Amino acid sequence: MIGDHGRRFRLLGLLALTLACGSTSALSEATAPTEGESTGETTGAPSTGSSGSSTGAGDTTGDTTGEGEGDPSAALQVIRGGTIVGLGVADIAIVDGVITEIGAIETTPEEVTIAAAGRWIVPAGIDSHVHLDYLRAPLPMAAGGIAVAVDLAAPIAVFDERKAGEFAPLELLVAGPMLAAPGGYPTQSWGSGGFGVECASTEEALAAVDDLADRGASLIKISLENGPRLSDETIAAVVTRAHERDLRVLAHALGDADAAAAAAFGVDGLAHTPLEPLSPATIAALDGLAVISTLHAFGSGETAMSNLGALHDAGATILYGTDFGNSVTPGIDPIELMSMLAAGLDPPEVLAALTSTPAAFWGLAHGRVEVGAPASVLLLSGDPTSDALLLATPEAVYLDGVLQDIGLRGGGGIAVEPK
Ligand SMILES: [Zn+2]
Repeated sequence: MIGDHGRRFRLLGLLALTLACGSTSALSEATAPTEGESTGETTGAPSTGSSGSSTGAGDTTGDTTGEGEGDPSAALQVIRGGTIVGLGVADIAIVDGVITEIGAIETTPEEVTIAAAGRWIVPAGIDSHVHLDYLRAPLPMAAGGIAVAVDLAAPIAVFDERKAGEFAPLELLVAGPMLAAPGGYPTQSWGSGGFGVECASTEEALAAVDDLADRGASLIKISLENGPRLSDETIAAVVTRAHERDLRVLAHALGDADAAAAAAFGVDGLAHTPLEPLSPATIAALDGLAVISTLHAFGSGETAMSNLGALHDAGATILYGTDFGNSVTPGIDPIELMSMLAAGLDPPEVLAALTSTPAAFWGLAHGRVEVGAPASVLLLSGDPTSDALLLATPEAVYLDGVLQDIGLRGGGGIAVEPK
């Protein structure tokens, strides 16, 4: 399953070139699914039939007109005729950014129609490892198909910045600063500007957990990197306290022994696929834990890819993540997708790692196309369960019912200096 890496890696390089060359045409065709200019105007897609019964809850045909003129998210929008992956051809009604009905939906004069016949529809993506404070690019991320990002280390100001809407239109889950020993990772390297909170004792570490929980953190991140690090006793206490506060705990652990230690401490997952060859015992210990891919950020090395394949086979929960901020491709990263495929995940598994699996892990309403979920969806030119790379070039991106400007995503990278 994970053999023949040489051939797969060569393929990876070729695909990267193809994508780079193809990006212009992808962008120029991207306006194909259009919204009606005015209410009641249908933009050409044949309806999938308006006589059948709808599967969704609620009747959306009344009461929504007249609200929020000029703001498409406030009107009734209907995505017509697309193939919802896992469900088949169906229309999707959206009111106030939420999916209100799925099925064969009768046409109404007041609706704004989004023609999607011949297109595949999937939930927008969840990137479970970013540093948006490092690289403030929420719009390119959104334009590239990401609805939710999980920030795995940022200075304490991230909580206020999030409150001020600085990461809109993304929904951002945050760890705040990583818990670190005095002088420990990442405080002496890339994270010197407040990305770690230095804890000299168990009491200080527990106070930091409580402070982060009070501020609205979704998780606690600890480091098992070489150099000064929190004592075993402190880490065990931190994991217990974090779980008492309903926070996930992720460990930065790149080595075999560190990954095994993280599992023994009872963390919920690893922030990266480890880079050192993992022993069978460590792989077994990580069964049932989450592992965030971050393959591209470390060069998609053969060892990491073998580790991810083995962890996947052994029952770890694989989550798509890019380490954006330390990596520089905003939005759904084709190289990350390719690397996950080369590691042995099949296209439906890659799609799940980007959508439904992290939604369940993080307790999000996103990551699924269903009534009551946010209307955050991608319109694709083909079936991503056959070709997962299509996820990286959505023809249209809707987040909470609002069409994103996919021109903002750039041609595979944005002009920044990686640190
Ligand atoms: Zn990171």
